[in-house]
Amino acid sequence: MTAAPAIACIVGTRPEAIKMAPVIRALKASCWARCLVVATGQHRDLLDGPLAGFGIVPDIDLDLMTEGQTLTDLTARVIPAVAGALARIKPAAVLAQGDTATVFAAALAAFYARLPFGHVEAGLRTYDLEQPFPEEAFRQMVARITHWHFAPTAGAADNLRGERIAAAAIHVTGNTSIDTLLSSAQQLPEAPVGDERGRLILLTAHRRENFGAPLERIFAAVRELADRYPDIRVLYPVHPNPAVRGTAGRLLGGHARIELCPPLDYFQFVAAMRNCHFVLTDSGGVQEEAPALGKPVLVLREQTERPEAVAAGVAKVVGTSAERIVEESCRLLDDPAYYGSMARGVSPYGDGQAAGRIEAVLRRDLCVPGPVNTAR
Ligand code: UDP
Repeated sequence: MTAAPAIACIVGTRPEAIKMAPVIRALKASCWARCLVVATGQHRDLLDGPLAGFGIVPDIDLDLMTEGQTLTDLTARVIPAVAGALARIKPAAVLAQGDTATVFAAALAAFYARLPFGHVEAGLRTYDLEQPFPEEAFRQMVARITHWHFAPTAGAADNLRGERIAAAAIHVTGNTSIDTLLSSAQQLPEAPVGDERGRLILLTAHRRENFGAPLERIFAAVRELADRYPDIRVLYPVHPNPAVRGTAGRLLGGHARIELCPPLDYFQFVAAMRNCHFVLTDSGGVQEEAPALGKPVLVLREQTERPEAVAAGVAKVVGTSAERIVEESCRLLDDPAYYGSMARGVSPYGDGQAAGRIEAVLRRDLCVPGPVNTAR
């Protein structure tokens, strides 16, 4: 009997768990592959919740996060640790999603071990190495050593072709974030109609390039909005990074209609997105999810690698100037026709079937004909 090929799925952060969950589920449900999950623990505090929420128990937990870790020491520790895990698992292929040190290290460890690497959410680009930092560099470097490029959109595939990646190696699958979102939203109770506490603005802000003055400007804008509109309230699940938490507490704390809370469990966060009026965010994943739920997004960054929602007119890149954030938010709050034009519920990033497409490509390329050992 031929053993089912092992596929190692490497996860290190919250978005990686959220976006790899459907791929892991599809591989585990298949009868041809043995899916093994390796957690690096890059963001220990944010990784464990979503993994548990999706019922994923890592087969190997490298538990690499340390207090005050720098990118250099994190990268230097993840590469040999992932290499060791791959030496134990002896997979036929390695998969990871996104653009963190975990993903870069996983791709490099796979490359050194002469194993094919599949990059989930390939081809996102700003072509500005500073924005987002360091993620844009990780994406570009990973692309050089990737075997399967699972691009979420036709635009991402165009980027890869523009970098002379062979067309046969690029597969447009949709974004797995939408698989997770749609299946999770189905499990939530009906959204309440209206809220006597007022219109909800959901805020997330944590990007490294926004630390310092940009975050201060974002928070000043949010406070001004809360002061100006007695019928709005702001919910901000604050990222645990001390550079974010300290500034948030100082500039947003103590306002009656600004609620600062710890990061929400994914299902609670999806419920908050569904119940909100609009979203202010510098997050990548939230830019994909909110439009699919019909919520306008104001992107608190100078540029985005996710231009599709902007082109569809349901997201707008507003940067980090306080005046601009206030102006664009006021427009959404004051002009119902404009609000309606941005709250159309389109999903340019996927149809909820991305993981199945990824599994099908891997099956085509890795599935050994004949009887396989399906024990997992
Ligand atoms: N998210 C969550 N709880 C929160 C805030 C965000 O579960 O309190 C989810 C969100 O739905 C999205 C992901 O976390 O799927 C985005 O993660 P993050 O913004 O940290 O990373 P990025 O997407 O910018 O890489």
